[in-house]
Amino acid sequence: MVEKLALVGIGKIARDQHIPAIAGNPDWSLEAAVSRHASVDGVDHFETLDELLEKRPDINTISLAIPPQPRFEYAAKALRAGKHVMLEKPPGQSLAECYTLEALAKENGVSIFATWHSRYADCVPYLKEWLSRRTIRRLKITWKEDVRRWHPGQEWIWEPGGMGVFDPGINALSILTEVLPYPVHLAEAVLEFPENRATPIAANLTFADPGGADMTAVFDWRQEGPQTWDIEVETNDGNARLSLGGERLEIGGKLFKEGSNHEYANLYARMAELIKLGASDLDLTPMVHVCDAFSLGRRLNTEPFEF
Ligand code: NAP
Repeated sequence: MVEKLALVGIGKIARDQHIPAIAGNPDWSLEAAVSRHASVDGVDHFETLDELLEKRPDINTISLAIPPQPRFEYAAKALRAGKHVMLEKPPGQSLAECYTLEALAKENGVSIFATWHSRYADCVPYLKEWLSRRTIRRLKITWKEDVRRWHPGQEWIWEPGGMGVFDPGINALSILTEVLPYPVHLAEAVLEFPENRATPIAANLTFADPGGADMTAVFDWRQEGPQTWDIEVETNDGNARLSLGGERLEIGGKLFKEGSNHEYANLYARMAELIKLGASDLDLTPMVHVCDAFSLGRRLNTEPFEF
């Protein structure tokens, strides 16, 4: 059966990824867009979620491509109306919001999916399988990008709940928590906050690994020139490097696999599967590390940031 879907928030990620991924999947039909400013050619347009729920009761799934701060209210309303809900990452601005949404999905007998698009990058399952047969000695995440290039004019990332550099950094943590054969916890964090902003522009994290591996992450939004989204791992039996955010894997210095960006296609395939199974998928472990970084992090003030 084709699932009827409404997309809420017609911004950067909706246009770059959601709309093409939905169009490419015969299990889905994009029926409506909810947007305060924009419209999508060929589909119904509503300015509010209430209007959508009233006028198109036949639409069963709502995909929320809005920033984390307003997401809870939209998700809770959609779940209470008996709709399946797909959440962009991060799934909320706090953990408690996410637990409430999980309970609401259960009470209303619908599926909720906290998407982690980077986990669905082509090379991630290969690194996971490779690591499952090895002992990690050192793991280093380097996620350095230019905030002006990837988030032009987006003020919400600098507001409470917007997470600052953890907005991309959580993608690395979503891969880390997927590929590691066991859980780790955050031991230390140093966060750099521009003195005029509420969220960090850079972070250094150190994890406690039960096997004693040296495990660190550095996130930085001030990188101009080449951009870096790498995870390097040294093990008892060779080294691996996952780069391009999960789309390229080198093992022993040689190319093992190159991907070609199926992340959002894979997310919509997974959502269709969850609905068929009557299941939900709301893994909050990447978000736990971010919340722990805000809890444990030593705060440093740095230069003001303006777009
Ligand atoms: P964006 O372009 O700044 O915003 C998306 C849309 O959300 C806006 O166009 C607006 O849509 C709606 N919106 C903004 N503020 C709102 C508010 N207060 N209340 C209701 N709706 C609001 O952001 P984005 O880059 O697409 O990111 C959205 C989410 O996707 C974030 O959680 C982000 O982490 C995630 N994401 C982004 C990227 C990326 O490359 N940008 C990649 C992966 C995931 P209308 O004008 O249509 O109402």
